[in-house]
Amino acid sequence: MLNIVLFGPPGAGKGTVAKKVVEEKKLVHLSTGDILREEIERGSALGKEAGQLIAQGQLVPDEVVVAMVREFVKRKIPCSGFIFDGFPRTTEQAKELDAIMAAQGAAITMMIALEVSEDEIIRRMLSRAEIEGRPDDTIDVIRKRIATYHEKIKVTSDYYKAQNKYYTVDSSLTPENTLRQILSIVKGEG
Ligand code: ADP
Repeated sequence: MLNIVLFGPPGAGKGTVAKKVVEEKKLVHLSTGDILREEIERGSALGKEAGQLIAQGQLVPDEVVVAMVREFVKRKIPCSGFIFDGFPRTTEQAKELDAIMAAQGAAITMMIALEVSEDEIIRRMLSRAEIEGRPDDTIDVIRKRIATYHEKIKVTSDYYKAQNKYYTVDSSLTPENTLRQILSIVKGEG
């Protein structure tokens, strides 16, 4: 299996490029943000709890997202691999993900971090706000999400660096350009 963790600040383009990698490599796309938004739309208890945190640019508790991911992975296996988009966001989630994969006789192949400047992130998110209308894409919540990224999320990459599974790509150009860089990393590994 090819199991990629796609990493990077909000607005780096994880979702867009994940969809392209999925097409190329026939992987299953798992976006915790998308699953949480579906829960909010359904009005489930989980959605109500998560919705408030998301609206404030805070993280949803580890147990909640880990349980969601565990169910999702179990349901999709067997498959040729996963692309995890927006998960793991904490070291605890990274450890749990290893356990989830190990229980299926699989492992994380690599983390690929998308790098892009803060100005560009804000520009992209504000333009996405007009198209998608996501309630957490307002300037105040965007700033809070970027702060959460620096304070809490970024350190998660150390877990993969320590295992020599960490790669970076420049995500400041087009999604196609980012995709090409990702595919060349994947090819080098395989
Ligand atoms: P972005 O990458 O632009 O922040 P996402 O759709 O990945 O967008 O996430 C939106 C929000 O959902 C996050 O700000 C956070 O509140 C919540 N969320 C998503 N994934 C996780 C996760 N793995 N752990 C905790 N909270 C999460």
